[in-house]
Amino acid sequence: MITLKTSVRELGGVGDALALLLKKLHIETCKDLIFYFPYRFDDFSKCVLISQVQSGEHVTLKARIELIANRRLRNKRKMITECVVSDESGKLKIVWFNQPYFIHSLAVGDWVAVAGKITSSLFDSQLINPFFEKIPAEKVTQYTGSITPVYSLTAKLSQKQLRTLIKKSLEVCSPHIREWLPEKICHAENLCSFPQAVQSIHVPKTTEDFNRSLERLKFDELFFFQLCSQFLKKDLASKTSYPIHFDMKELSLFLSQLPFSLTQSQKQTLREVQEDMSKTHPMSRLIQGDVGSGKTCIAAAATYAVSRSGFQSLFLAPTEILAQQHFETFSNVFKKYPIRIALVTAQQIRTNHESRIMNHEKRKERKILFEQIEHGEIDSIIGTHALLQEKMKFARVALAIIDEQHRFGVKQRKALRDKNQESMTPHLLSLSATPIPRTLCMTLYGDLDVSSLKEVPLGRKKIITKIVPREYREWTYDFIRKEVKKGRQVFVLCPLIDPSDVLGTKSVKQEFELLKKNIFPDLRIGVLHGKMKSEAKEHIMIDMKEGRIDILIATSVIEVGIHISNASCMIVEGAERFGLAQLHQLRGRVGRSDHQSYCFLFPTEYDHDLSERLEIFAECSDGFALAEKDLELRGVGDMIGTRQSGMPNLKIARLTDHELIKKTRYWAQTILEEIDLYPALKKRVEVVTRETHGE
Ligand code: ADP
Ligand code: MG
Repeated sequence: MITLKTSVRELGGVGDALALLLKKLHIETCKDLIFYFPYRFDDFSKCVLISQVQSGEHVTLKARIELIANRRLRNKRKMITECVVSDESGKLKIVWFNQPYFIHSLAVGDWVAVAGKITSSLFDSQLINPFFEKIPAEKVTQYTGSITPVYSLTAKLSQKQLRTLIKKSLEVCSPHIREWLPEKICHAENLCSFPQAVQSIHVPKTTEDFNRSLERLKFDELFFFQLCSQFLKKDLASKTSYPIHFDMKELSLFLSQLPFSLTQSQKQTLREVQEDMSKTHPMSRLIQGDVGSGKTCIAAAATYAVSRSGFQSLFLAPTEILAQQHFETFSNVFKKYPIRIALVTAQQIRTNHESRIMNHEKRKERKILFEQIEHGEIDSIIGTHALLQEKMKFARVALAIIDEQHRFGVKQRKALRDKNQESMTPHLLSLSATPIPRTLCMTLYGDLDVSSLKEVPLGRKKIITKIVPREYREWTYDFIRKEVKKGRQVFVLCPLIDPSDVLGTKSVKQEFELLKKNIFPDLRIGVLHGKMKSEAKEHIMIDMKEGRIDILIATSVIEVGIHISNASCMIVEGAERFGLAQLHQLRGRVGRSDHQSYCFLFPTEYDHDLSERLEIFAECSDGFALAEKDLELRGVGDMIGTRQSGMPNLKIARLTDHELIKKTRYWAQTILEEIDLYPALKKRVEVVTRETHGE
């Protein structure tokens, strides 16, 4: 019998090759097929006349082919298919790129329904890469067209193939698709039923039909996401933690020996942390603050209080070099205190009370340190993922801190939390430099409380940011040379690692050749990108930190947390390819000392719209404001970057849909209170939260 869990291979017509293609889209079962939603639909039932089309519009039309031919683009291996179609009102040009085989299924005189976006040039309008449906000759007069869903594809898979499979899967699985939302929600919100929604999203009868399914499925997605996150929050509140007492006198004494005084936001955040940690249930707080806003000293203050109370704290960093940086900062601020600190990474182990360098390769040395940790002889343990390994045991962990928390999955957050021998749950403090607009925070981090560090410490100089006109490239290189002569260091950022055929987009490798040979043959130039082994990356970063590199050419891998106070200049090539929030993160790699710092933006093309966006960035140095702006301009996916985990994996709903978020939030709260009335739903929440949170 075929169920939702049945493999697509059993649907018939799916062999190895097709199964592999589907797998690329994460489709392996019938259920995956059914839940592979279209990203839009073409409404062939509402055809317009060619004379009515307007530039920028998404249109569907019915027309006859007048002319069709393939042509090879000059100097390129690319093939284009050019076609002219006509209806009673006029003619229109169609262009398809790299689909030369279309010519075999279309001929002069054929009728087609086409759908796509109208693009205009100076002389005429055209449709580029539209979808088309051939209309059989006998049906031309009575052709009414259908509403056809359009799915995202992968190379070699066609819309038709995917549609057929989805339809087949819907047919055989329909008895297994059941309503899962409580009746009272459907009723109150006037939602269509779940089986109906799933059916109509793929095979809509009318536009209204499609829209209603969409509405329903979006609701489901956000509702379930929020139900899970609130469930977790409630679950966490039922756990017990060691309450930590902050002795105010001691704390201010500790803070007074730092080389600066705290900003108002830092003070406020510390108060929030202190309040949370005084309770017997676990804190779950995210501190988000712009790069350089001083999150680390809050972590240090909390660590201080924890060790004064006789407990341990953990500090997890995403990379070796960041862990080492924190170890050095902590060893420094706790110099005058009897607080024992250890660094544990895959490459090294160190402590602050033994000056000799430990050999991390000696099993015995590791073992001794791990035993000290297990017996509670170390107060603060700083490290990378190595802290999460099975054999690391701790004595009494009251606090777990995660730096750049978006780099870790919820699973690791959870693992860190479970690191205690006793059944006590540590307080959790997450630090993040990715400013997330407040409107999104609630949705994203329903299970976290959020503190924001809004001000940047006094005395920091604003980074001078300029969009550089083409003719000033030479000038910029001269300027950089002068900075290097003064002893400063430089970052050059490129969007790509390898050269590509996309015109003008700079790659790390090409840029290295260019700068090394033609521009700065006398300077020390390094390269850093994501395809390098992590050890090689660490080496480069250490060379940069210790001043053995003048210019580092890199991709956006340098984004996270590293402190190179001597770096004062940054060039961003292909600047328009980065989101504003990401540019801001990148820019934060310079301007970390009292040297005046500079950020030079080189767009690939000097398009008006783009420079306007970059203009905003050049003017504004507030990460939160930029994140809001980015959200407005590009939507959530781009803003945060798909690489970053911890984001809900939404298929069709948008995190910018505030109304729906509010509504689903309300329902999630309401239903959670009476969740026992819905055993099936409860079970589903439990399973999902256990899976994604690695319990
Ligand atoms: P981030 O929030 O990016 O992790 P850090 O905690 O690394 O920032 O702090 C960046 C730098 O600012 C550090 O050198 C730190 O000593 C310094 N700093 C932190 N708070 C203050 C402050 N209130 N006044 C001046 N400098 C500060
Ligand atoms: Mg930091």
